[in-house]
Amino acid sequence: MKAYRLTLGALLCALLLAACAAPAPATPAAAPTPTSAPAPAPTATPSGPIPAEAREPVLVSPVGMDGVLVKGTGGQPWWNDATFYEVFVRSFYDSDGDGNGDINGLIQKLDYLNDGKADTTTDLGVTGIWLMPIMASPTYHGYDVTDYYTVNPQYGTNDDFKRLMAEAHQRGIHIIIDLVLNHTSSQHPWFIESQNPASPKRDWYVWADEAQGQGWHKSAAGGYYYGYFWDGMPDLNYKNPAVTEEMKKVIQFWLEDMGVDGYRLDAVKYLMEDGKQIEHTPATHEWLKDFHTFYKGINPQAFTVGEVWDDSMIASKYVGDELDVVFEFSAAKGMLQSAVSGEKDKAESSQKWAAKYYPPNQLATFLTNHDQNRVRSTLVNDAQAKTAASLLFAYQGVPFIYYGEEIGMRGSKPDEDIRRPMQWTSDGDFTAGKPWNAYYDDLKERSVEAQAAAPDSILNHYRAWISLRNNHEALRIGEWQPITTDQRPVYASVRFTAGERILTLVNLGPEPVTTYSLTLDAGPLTPGLQPVLLMGEADQLFAPAVNAAGGFASYQPVGTLAPRSTYVIQFVP
Ligand code: CA
Repeated sequence: MKAYRLTLGALLCALLLAACAAPAPATPAAAPTPTSAPAPAPTATPSGPIPAEAREPVLVSPVGMDGVLVKGTGGQPWWNDATFYEVFVRSFYDSDGDGNGDINGLIQKLDYLNDGKADTTTDLGVTGIWLMPIMASPTYHGYDVTDYYTVNPQYGTNDDFKRLMAEAHQRGIHIIIDLVLNHTSSQHPWFIESQNPASPKRDWYVWADEAQGQGWHKSAAGGYYYGYFWDGMPDLNYKNPAVTEEMKKVIQFWLEDMGVDGYRLDAVKYLMEDGKQIEHTPATHEWLKDFHTFYKGINPQAFTVGEVWDDSMIASKYVGDELDVVFEFSAAKGMLQSAVSGEKDKAESSQKWAAKYYPPNQLATFLTNHDQNRVRSTLVNDAQAKTAASLLFAYQGVPFIYYGEEIGMRGSKPDEDIRRPMQWTSDGDFTAGKPWNAYYDDLKERSVEAQAAAPDSILNHYRAWISLRNNHEALRIGEWQPITTDQRPVYASVRFTAGERILTLVNLGPEPVTTYSLTLDAGPLTPGLQPVLLMGEADQLFAPAVNAAGGFASYQPVGTLAPRSTYVIQFVP
């Protein structure tokens, strides 16, 4: 079997057939039969087999396929319709055999991410890409820039990049790029010039006659300079208006001349220091307000996501008139903890906590990124990786996937090893030459090719989720509401718009769960709605007894929840 190729409708029909025609897989002897009792709400009525036509989703294009930035569904920002994919260009695909991934290689693999056709189960279906730094840099990772106006020659040319933008837009994919404002490379000509105390560039960086504490480095040319992360990354001095003016030129260049759709802002909480206070200073917030006005003035549809590695309460302060969204690190941690432990508590509490602070859906959700051990190296098996993805996609916000996460690629620190080459086939097939860094040692068993052919793979789980998200507005822009469950392995929440209501139910644990109860005191339901299964396998679905407030109590939509399984249920008239 070369590849797993099914239309979304066929996939759903296949699931339907499996659910209705086949006996329940591996149900324990004690499990209740559909007729004898999942004993849900006394008043709940079995809906029985669901007609196939009720399951056919309406295909919609969440973003304009002509490359024009459009307002999103329901007048919401376009990024709330998107699912983003973080790409480390050096490790994605090498077009010329030098062992380094490049822009042309990424173009060749765009169809894997999204081929631009409405059928989204033969590709991943993502509609956004975040490129880790692509500007000229002396290091393999690129987070220390030497030229803000030129694509890293190892990755290609500025013209290659423009072609990437056009090819991506044709497929309905937006691209944002890493913008490293906090610091440059110590090899940047600005810094080299600034080492001369008499230079006009002196005040572009932070210099002193004596070290002021942590983050200060002695310069071979005399004096000390501040570089929070590393002596190879001197901090720019944004108290100097000339630095801000230059960076505005950079921001304008990539938006106007290169056509990017926005930026991911690296380390943005450290932008401006104030004495001993190095993060979250009022000056940083003021700078970002001016930045927001500036970039929205160039392109009102440009999108920014910030790296503010902090609690939801603090990170969310950057959202609104500073950045469009920030990465939600607390919920990421909570979701992974729950996938590992098999208990919902951490995911539920961190998602609820974050929901208190962000405007609805204005947060970037993820599991791990290029700075953290990979998801599959944190979790012990593929089934856990699938439940982790379900927690991510069930929640609100703009989801980001780290390249390789969708096939369960592994990797633990040091950083180079969480950024290894993409495993396209059992031979790797990332490059015709020698990869810049070795593949992970499970290459023979784990690849895009192998997972595309296996219906139960992590890849097909991600494809199914992203397809559901692309086809159901409730999963993109809907309000999110947690549902109380009485069993620690069982996670549940609902998302809804005026027209759709979709419940996600996840058994995080390694055992089947036969008795559980969902409670939603007030919610989006109305009496008479019928459940339709969008993901998962169930003999039968049960409708809730809806209370006057649109909620329910003692509700058990599915009889037995299989171990580490996901059920996505839509309620339709
Ligand atoms: Ca190359």
